[in-house]
Amino acid sequence: MGEPSTSPADLVILGGGSGGYAAAFRAAELGMSVVLIEKDKVGGTCLHRGCIPTKALLHAAEIADNAREGEQFGVKTTLAGIDIAGVNSYKDGVVGRLYKGLQGLVKARKVTYVEGEGRLVSQTAVQVGEQTYEGRHVLLATGSYARSLPGLEIDGQRVITSDHALRLEHVPASVVILGGGVIGCEFASVWKSFGADVTIVEALPHLVPLEDESSSKLLERAFRKRKIGFELGTRFSGVTSTDDGVQVSLESGKTIEAELLLVAVGRGPVSDGLGYEENGVPMDRGFVVVDPLCQTSVPTISAVGDLIPTPQLAHVGFGEGILVAERLAGLSVVPIDYAGVPRITYSEPEVASVGLTEAQAAEKYGEIEALTYDLGGNGKSQILKTQGAVRLIRAKDGPVLGVHMVGSRVGELIAEAMLIYNWEALPDEVASLIHPHPTQSEALGEAHLALAGKPLHVHG
Ligand SMILES: Cc1cc2nc3c(=O)[nH]c(=O)nc-3n(C[C@H](O)[C@H](O)[C@H](O)COP(=O)(O)OP(=O)(O)OC[C@H]3O[C@@H](n4cnc5c(N)ncnc54)[C@H](O)[C@@H]3O)c2cc1C
Repeated sequence: MGEPSTSPADLVILGGGSGGYAAAFRAAELGMSVVLIEKDKVGGTCLHRGCIPTKALLHAAEIADNAREGEQFGVKTTLAGIDIAGVNSYKDGVVGRLYKGLQGLVKARKVTYVEGEGRLVSQTAVQVGEQTYEGRHVLLATGSYARSLPGLEIDGQRVITSDHALRLEHVPASVVILGGGVIGCEFASVWKSFGADVTIVEALPHLVPLEDESSSKLLERAFRKRKIGFELGTRFSGVTSTDDGVQVSLESGKTIEAELLLVAVGRGPVSDGLGYEENGVPMDRGFVVVDPLCQTSVPTISAVGDLIPTPQLAHVGFGEGILVAERLAGLSVVPIDYAGVPRITYSEPEVASVGLTEAQAAEKYGEIEALTYDLGGNGKSQILKTQGAVRLIRAKDGPVLGVHMVGSRVGELIAEAMLIYNWEALPDEVASLIHPHPTQSEALGEAHLALAGKPLHVHG
């Protein structure tokens, strides 16, 4: 072990991503002394390689679509082209400003920030180089990395992950995307808007397979209309290099040629070689095992974020980080209801949901009711020329159990659905609240009116 730090901190945190820094800020607010150890940049995957840069690309993609489609609205626009250097500088500018702000917050909260690669060396200490940081508690928050498939080598040139995709300095002419989950669909959407030929390969029968099947089908219909190709229920079998790209083979016997292969098959925990197992931290396939309050079976060690097997979302990391800080400060805390955490795929169109899918609700509650409100009846959606739906699931004569939406901008509507689900609202209660006209939020109101038996703008 290296030199011990002078006195133990209340909390030593390994990893400064969404989970780690949220815990650091809340713990500091609650009067704890905090050491935050980060080997790269505070903000982690979300800020530097995830949520923020991808959403900046998606916004640029939306502007490209608007320019291309202006005539539909009687506005004479054409898309002259994508200046990828300009797109990247806009994206990097957003990330840079948020990064500066976050660094300022670290200072303002008086968190001791340590730059360097840490390793757990006891149940109360993390070592960075020659220095050892002792804590009354340790929080593991080392996050995740882009996984590949056995035998599929990422070369960073033709076979890439989202990390490389965010640093591309050109728009590829054609891409095969392995994986039709959130990340795969978001990149498919961006590249299609930028003019690439895109094919998604998904082993499961649907795109965004964790979503309600109705949402997957609506997204598939919209992607088909956008001429984004996809091969569903088909496994990847191999990739070979060609003169100007890759040839991807599928188990079905089909081959697809493209300039790039983006591997988006999920993210694995960063836990190898970090001393977790050696110090008694319970592990399962690389993930740290915790109880519902993010506590491991080692009393001094907690873990949060993508490192534990909960939904891999930045806001889940924030919530878990805050929960751990409050628990350690002696505040009363309750476990997170993960079904109540909103999920959004920010493609065009967007897919957003909270609560249970129809299949999960039927399994848990037996008798349920489901209702689909088509965005065709929603004025603002017509104005935007977006198609899609709001689908509600309720327990028979009971509260709303799930809200599933597809359409442009519906991600912004999911916050209301989050309150509806988490407050266990009855459809009648929501139906009695007046939504502003003409907004897309009205579609949520109208769906609840219909489910409460008093439909307004519903045909048939
Ligand atoms: C392309 C992409 C798009 C995404 N989009 C969204 C989105 O729109 N919305 C959303 O909610 N989520 C999104 N996510 C997921 C989100 O980024 C993660 O859920 C979130 O970043 C997890 O936070 P974390 O703190 O657990 O881990 P991370 O953010 O990965 O942070 C872990 C940190 O630990 C550091 N670290 C690791 N090992 C060590 C060590 N030994 N010593 C010191 N430091 C170490 C790393 O450098 C890193 O900064 C996206 C992810 C990707 C890849």
